Amino acid sequence: METNLELINTRTPRIENKLEDLATFKQVVDQVDDLVMITDLHGNIEYVNPAFERISGYSKYEALGQKPNILKSGKQETSFYENLWKTVLEGRSYHGLLVNKRKDGSLFYAEKTITPLKNKEGDIAHFVSTDKDVTERRITEERANLYVKKFKDLFDNSGDAMAYCALDGTLLEVNHAFIDMTGYSTEELLHQKKYQDITNEEFWEIGNQFLSQLLSQGKSITYEKEYIRKDGKTVPVLLTAFPVREDHTPRITAVGVIAIDITERRNFEIKLKDLNSELKRSNEDLDRFACIAAHDLQAPLRTISLYLGLIERGGGLDTESKEYLTYTKDACKRLSSLISDLLTYSRVLGTVTKWEAVNLEETLASVLELQKDTVKRLQAKISHDPLPEIQGDPTQLSIILANLIENGMKYRRENEAPRIHVGAKRVNGEYLFSVKDNGLGVSKEDTEKIFLMFQRGKNGYTIEGTGIGLAICKRAIEAHGGKVWVESIPGAGSTFFFTIPVHGYQKKNVLHT
Ligand code: ADP
Repeated sequence: METNLELINTRTPRIENKLEDLATFKQVVDQVDDLVMITDLHGNIEYVNPAFERISGYSKYEALGQKPNILKSGKQETSFYENLWKTVLEGRSYHGLLVNKRKDGSLFYAEKTITPLKNKEGDIAHFVSTDKDVTERRITEERANLYVKKFKDLFDNSGDAMAYCALDGTLLEVNHAFIDMTGYSTEELLHQKKYQDITNEEFWEIGNQFLSQLLSQGKSITYEKEYIRKDGKTVPVLLTAFPVREDHTPRITAVGVIAIDITERRNFEIKLKDLNSELKRSNEDLDRFACIAAHDLQAPLRTISLYLGLIERGGGLDTESKEYLTYTKDACKRLSSLISDLLTYSRVLGTVTKWEAVNLEETLASVLELQKDTVKRLQAKISHDPLPEIQGDPTQLSIILANLIENGMKYRRENEAPRIHVGAKRVNGEYLFSVKDNGLGVSKEDTEKIFLMFQRGKNGYTIEGTGIGLAICKRAIEAHGGKVWVESIPGAGSTFFFTIPVHGYQKKNVLHT
């Protein structure tokens, strides 16, 4: 083309105008970003624009005289080219997407348009081919497709049931797990059933409420509901419903759901509930039994003690008999404290039946009054922080303080007067109480077990006790909604901590330990 322009040397005004038009046309074609090539009827390249050189990597001199198949990538079938040539040879324009190959062998996607150019006689003389490089767009599209495929695979193969519904509840898409869970086929569900049709009627109202909330707030919602399978069986599910927005607009166009079958969990919960009530009942039976047994044992024990006293006073016993009598009296004493501790334990019920305001300063004063002889005998020093008035059961609270203070004196170190401090402070919604002593301390492995019934620590072998006192404390503290634990440095002392909620506590489903 350029050559033709240069060869023309006879310039009439008409020719001048034509030449100007041609020069303008060339300027335009030179500047377009799309790859342009012009061929003769036989497909010999007569012109390529700079974009062709830039994109294909072939210089104009390499391309001129060649056929367009220098760009052939081999990615298209022969039928593709047959259709292309058939179209253009019939004088029609061709449009299509194809993969081209650059000079360096790399590929690029192009949207191709081939327009046949006719001469004055109406015969095709040239073909103008433009290729728009759409490689980046294609890569983005391919990535997007891959992304969509990944999520589709996830949707199809998820073990949890998933579905998309229109806003009126019509099921638009369901996965395999959803079909398995509901027992319907895809054909029976899609566009045939609404979400409500497979939901237990009891959950319709709550479902509607949640849907309105989801639509107004635009956030996902999780709740438990029940599906009704095709065979009529109920399936409890944990459902997460989430809004689906299309075209990046805030408008919600559908609702997605993920449903997890919670049948096993439900069965487990029911079993646990049954076990809980059974445990509660057997604990109550045990309490009743302990209470009756302790009561009934007390009377014969009193009789035994009475007669032992009479035998002792009667005199005339030899040394051996006196020794046996002492053993028997000791055993009676141990049995008596065991019975009285058991009675206390069974009286401290797992709940507080009557809540009232208890002034702990007064409670402590009466506890110390009862223990004043021991305090005096041991020269114990007992101090305390200002104690609050709290909500609780006065008897149980007094038993807790009495046990902890008594233990503080009982598990004292040799040749060391007991020093005990009762602390109290408010931490958030709870009071944190502490009873600190300077006694024997508790070894690390005993810190948990000493709160269990009949369990005694290593330090208790030579000291009399039943192993019930701390179990009573734990039971009473937990009945108040609190916790108890011990921190100790063996050989240096222990601090028993317990908490009580500031505003009382209504205990439900008590599990006794
Ligand atoms: P008991 O004192 O009758 O053995 P408790 O239930 O009151 O029963 O205590 C259980 C065990 O905890 C005791 O045997 C003892 O080993 C340990 N213990 C309790 N209080 C203290 C304390 N203040 N210092 C050290 N050890 C303690």
